[in-house]
Amino acid sequence: MLLLVDLDGVVYRGAQPVPGVAALLVARAEAGDEVVYVTNNSMWDRADYVTRLSGMGAPVDPDRIISSARATALYLRDLQPPVRRVLVVGGAGLVNELVDAGIEVVLSGDAAERWSANGRDAAAAVGHVDAVVVGLDLEFTYARLACAAEAVRAGARFVATNRDPIYPHEKGLMPGAGSIVAAIEAASGVTPVSIGKPGPLLLEIAAHAVGKEASDAVMIGDSLVTDVPAAVAVGARSVLMLTGISTRKQVEALAASDRPTEIAADAAELAVALDRLAGGG
Ligand SMILES: [Mg+2]
Repeated sequence: MLLLVDLDGVVYRGAQPVPGVAALLVARAEAGDEVVYVTNNSMWDRADYVTRLSGMGAPVDPDRIISSARATALYLRDLQPPVRRVLVVGGAGLVNELVDAGIEVVLSGDAAERWSANGRDAAAAVGHVDAVVVGLDLEFTYARLACAAEAVRAGARFVATNRDPIYPHEKGLMPGAGSIVAAIEAASGVTPVSIGKPGPLLLEIAAHAVGKEASDAVMIGDSLVTDVPAAVAVGARSVLMLTGISTRKQVEALAASDRPTEIAADAAELAVALDRLAGGG
């Protein structure tokens, strides 16, 4: 089976591994399953995840870690006409993945400095770009917004890594990439393509990375807002893990067509659910 595995809330929670999940994934990989990680997080690149996942004992291969940053880079690389130069509103992980895919990057921080110095001429500050790529940017400013919106208005493709409005943090809720995307959408009047879950693109790009179709996958995730709707969008089966943000009670409130195929409270229940899905074909 192709297992598309969400990270935060499934393999780990923050810095803490979810007990038993890494070992189960090792066993499934040894038995022949393809394990590909899919996460909306755009802040880190594959090298960061290799370090983190191998430290937890999870099976890991850089080509099987499809963050929204990596998926965005693969999406842009395969577009026609080719995307050669992009303005990036986002963190180092996103920049690294774009550069690694052979795309020339204009940093929105650099463009914003030129904008401030040149009398607020955003077109001159950015120059020509084929796309504006937006992820979580912890140093987002009005000047970066002005530059990004101008480039989109001038005809650059507008691509969001994801539209998560908020994300959970040890100290509470933080604004997510989606809040920044919404600002650029408001200022430009253009709706972006969004790569991350709950849309289908992240799962499709992840499946294609190993030569498979997303509809044949089992999505393992902890969110009824992103993971399960993404699985539904591509026609994949899903296992909702109760080790993260969603609860069994929330499942019961959903229409049958929006529910996960299986629910697992822990790694042991996940093992049983995957055996059942493998047996069911
Ligand atoms: Mg999650």
